[in-house]
Amino acid sequence: MSEPSRLEVVVAGGGSAGWIAAATLARFLGDCATITLVESDEIGTVGVGEATIPQIHNLLIGLGIDQTEFLQRTNASFKLGIEFADWLRQGESYIHSFGKVGRGVGLMPFRQLWLRGRGLGVAGDYGDYSFNIAAALRNRFAIVDDQGAAGMDLAYAYHLDATLFAQMLREYSTDRGVRRVEGRIVSVERDATSGDITALQLSGERRIAGNLFIDCTGFRSLLLGDALGVPYIDWTNWLPCDTALAMPTETGAAFRPYTQSIARKAGWQWRIPLQHRTGNGHVFCSAFMGEDEASAMLLANVEGKPLADPRPIRFAAGHRREYWSHNCVALGLAAGFMEPLESTSIHLVQSGIGRLLNLLPRDLGNLDAARVAFNRFSTVEWERVRDFLVLHYVANERVGDPFWDHCRTIAIPATLAEKIALFREAGLFMREEDELFLDDSWGQVMIGQGIVPSGWSPLADNVPGADIGPFLNSIAGACRTKAEALPSHADFVARMAGRAVMGEA
Ligand SMILES: Cc1cc2nc3c(=O)[nH]c(=O)nc-3n(C[C@H](O)[C@H](O)[C@H](O)COP(=O)(O)OP(=O)(O)OC[C@H]3O[C@@H](n4cnc5c(N)ncnc54)[C@H](O)[C@@H]3O)c2cc1C
Repeated sequence: MSEPSRLEVVVAGGGSAGWIAAATLARFLGDCATITLVESDEIGTVGVGEATIPQIHNLLIGLGIDQTEFLQRTNASFKLGIEFADWLRQGESYIHSFGKVGRGVGLMPFRQLWLRGRGLGVAGDYGDYSFNIAAALRNRFAIVDDQGAAGMDLAYAYHLDATLFAQMLREYSTDRGVRRVEGRIVSVERDATSGDITALQLSGERRIAGNLFIDCTGFRSLLLGDALGVPYIDWTNWLPCDTALAMPTETGAAFRPYTQSIARKAGWQWRIPLQHRTGNGHVFCSAFMGEDEASAMLLANVEGKPLADPRPIRFAAGHRREYWSHNCVALGLAAGFMEPLESTSIHLVQSGIGRLLNLLPRDLGNLDAARVAFNRFSTVEWERVRDFLVLHYVANERVGDPFWDHCRTIAIPATLAEKIALFREAGLFMREEDELFLDDSWGQVMIGQGIVPSGWSPLADNVPGADIGPFLNSIAGACRTKAEALPSHADFVARMAGRAVMGEA
């Protein structure tokens, strides 16, 4: 049997997606592959993408990146969840926190005890039983080690500077043998028989050949979309927002350990606090609001002094019909886009590259089975994330705002309709395949968006009613007490970063 040909990977694009891909491939394929990354300084990157979810720890641990160094080099802060203000109704807010809400008893999920407690009139707000939320509301944070009570650790992610993160990963990758080529891709060469990509032609008559191509060229999708002609599946009927205005400001008064998502007339605004500035943006639907109005609304609602003008970024929610076609896999914006409502894009890059590494055959001669599996699993993953985002929009009670009135009429995917029906009944949830968001996330957003079940599982009837109030109170009390003992987020970050951060403690 002849030896398979050597793996020659070409990563097209050097935004977060390109450098996450290059770093991961270099770390896990080592000397078994040559890796070349092409990026264009002239074109640059999208320059946003600052909020993450806890799965980013898998990336950092996998790459062996030290957390303190990461925090210092990317000007990062900690994130305990996302506050959704005014999403259900004007004046109401809730936090979708990472980690657990409450504590189940035996096989009984906590939510069932809470629902029964609600029925008995002895339960507080669902968020009262989350340690993450207790800490977030007090602007406090620490990495709780094994001194913490069992099951009460804070689950966290980061806010990071995307440009600094890409630079860090670039250095990591080139130190491990990745060849970086600066230049503009002008055309894509394909094999006349198989249709596989054989090389990228760069300006200046340079040619980069390879046998596996990773398309990380951003919204352009130069390889998968343009060269291979894989069509775009449009999801704007479910996620109609199509424009973002991004603008950095000085850090505001509070250095919050969470992202803010504030519903506006035709979309929502984000605030992402970093050590040296706050990232702000206004995501809106252009059919319901013009750019001038959206820009004025953003400028009127930031907390710190603007450091630049609002920068528009246009997009359409959706994805390429296949994420892998021929010998080309797309990651990041080249694969598709869902608005950053739950900060999922960087994670989808990570999981995409992880999936590729798990499926990559040693012999590139026949990629069919790997490609089919990759596309099937990616589709399921993206669709379940989509459903979770759509939930935020459709379950609103902002009656009288035309955009929000429209959102309540959206014909939702059947998979989401089933989840809502199951939840509405008795707060029930079943995880489908490997979907990203788990019971605690769906539960917090369902309840936060006003889908509060009237009943509960009969399992909860088996607990003596008199025990439920004290049980709930003990959990809420423990969350508060532990949160109050934590240092401020600003102090904790300053200690780790080795310098003061902007904003008050
Ligand atoms: C408004 C907005 C907010 C977001 N917020 C979040 C968030 O909070 N959290 C999150 O996880 N994600 C977020 N995202 C998504 C996140 O920004 C992206 O997933 C991430 O930055 C990856 O982008 P990318 O690398 O795919 O594309 P880009 O950053 O656009 O990089 C594309 C690369 O391709 C190169 N390129 C393009 N054309 C050529 C060419 N012809 N020749 C050579 N090189 C070329 C470019 O130079 C660049 O290096 C957000 C996205 C948007 C639009």
